[in-house]
Amino acid sequence: MTGPRVLFINHTSTMSGAELVLADVVRAWRGATAFLFEDGPLNAAMAGCGLRVERARAGGGLTGLRRSSSPLRALPMAGRLAALVLEIAGRARRADVIYANSQKAFVLGALATGIVRRPLIWHLHDIIDPLHFGTAQRRLQVGLANARATCVIAPSTAVADAFVAAGGRRDRVAIVPNGLDLVPDPRSRAELRRAAGLPSGLLVGVFSRLASWKGQHVLLHALAELPGVGAVVAGAPLFGEDAYAAELVRLAAELGIADRVHFLGQRSDVALLMQAVEVVVHPSIHPEPFGRTLVEAMLAGVPLVATRTGAAAEILDEGAFGTLVPPGDAAALAEGIRRILAGNAGGATQVAAASERARTRYGADGMRDAIAGIIRRVAEGG
Ligand code: UDP
Repeated sequence: MTGPRVLFINHTSTMSGAELVLADVVRAWRGATAFLFEDGPLNAAMAGCGLRVERARAGGGLTGLRRSSSPLRALPMAGRLAALVLEIAGRARRADVIYANSQKAFVLGALATGIVRRPLIWHLHDIIDPLHFGTAQRRLQVGLANARATCVIAPSTAVADAFVAAGGRRDRVAIVPNGLDLVPDPRSRAELRRAAGLPSGLLVGVFSRLASWKGQHVLLHALAELPGVGAVVAGAPLFGEDAYAAELVRLAAELGIADRVHFLGQRSDVALLMQAVEVVVHPSIHPEPFGRTLVEAMLAGVPLVATRTGAAAEILDEGAFGTLVPPGDAAALAEGIRRILAGNAGGATQVAAASERARTRYGADGMRDAIAGIIRRVAEGG
């Protein structure tokens, strides 16, 4: 590798959207080091991109610290967290730039780089607001960002604005939209359905990890108002939301729609599944920091109904490239789906324009180039 020596750090090795983004970013940084706090699919993904993967001795278990928790909840772990900070500091000493890709990695990275005086980039994948984080967590993150981060990369205006509203310095923020590549499958919808083992008939799909703020329950309520329409629900409770996953199954039974709802678990063929349904639904009830799922649906050429909150409104340009409905409103969601199924919205022209927008604004190369530029600038002291 030529150029700056970069140390990428992340607290979880579960592949949610932020880790999928990181896996795309590091393709430009073969030979760099990834320091990961636990074992999981991210470790192999980083190694597959040519990074040297180092696993923390004191890591693991940090996902148990909830975003709403008071920092006092971390006290019993204080010894382990201190050891982790020292492990990061030891590696940071041999790097030109530290790149923290998760909130917990950032907090510990800020402490570590404070010791060894190395520049720190925070790729902020979250909306720092009271719906997502407790007060003390918000203060800690923003305070450390203002004190230690040379640059905070935000994937959307929604993330940047929330960071600033929480007290973060705007001059530190660079907006770099997440980028991804997806080549649509040339097979017909019917063929893809058969290949995926999905039933015939009208189908909508939701493709997000199972978590209450992602709003899958709102889709189930909407489905109860859409007789004859089925739904595929892809995704798993990646961060301990098992009770919510069980609640969704119970709710489908209670609403009398269990035979129309297909829970598929975590899938690695989301692009194909999206093309197999008539409508992709993105029902988040809290502001979405980005929503790769939205861009994937646009690239897959499938009409989209999303809630008007966070980055969804930005990505769909206030409804020009997909249907927007109010968050948490099952009747409005049902109506949005009904209009598309009836051919009154989400037609071929809009879908083609949405695909074009996704290709031009949200490509992986553009994201990688923009982030590489930031890393080089920060490494040079800019
Ligand atoms: N995803 C997946 N398998 C599933 C459900 C979702 O691979 O069963 C992927 C989805 O295609 C998307 C990512 O998980 O690329 C979710 O990213 P997004 O930004 O939408 O949400 P996040 O999980 O980061 O909140």
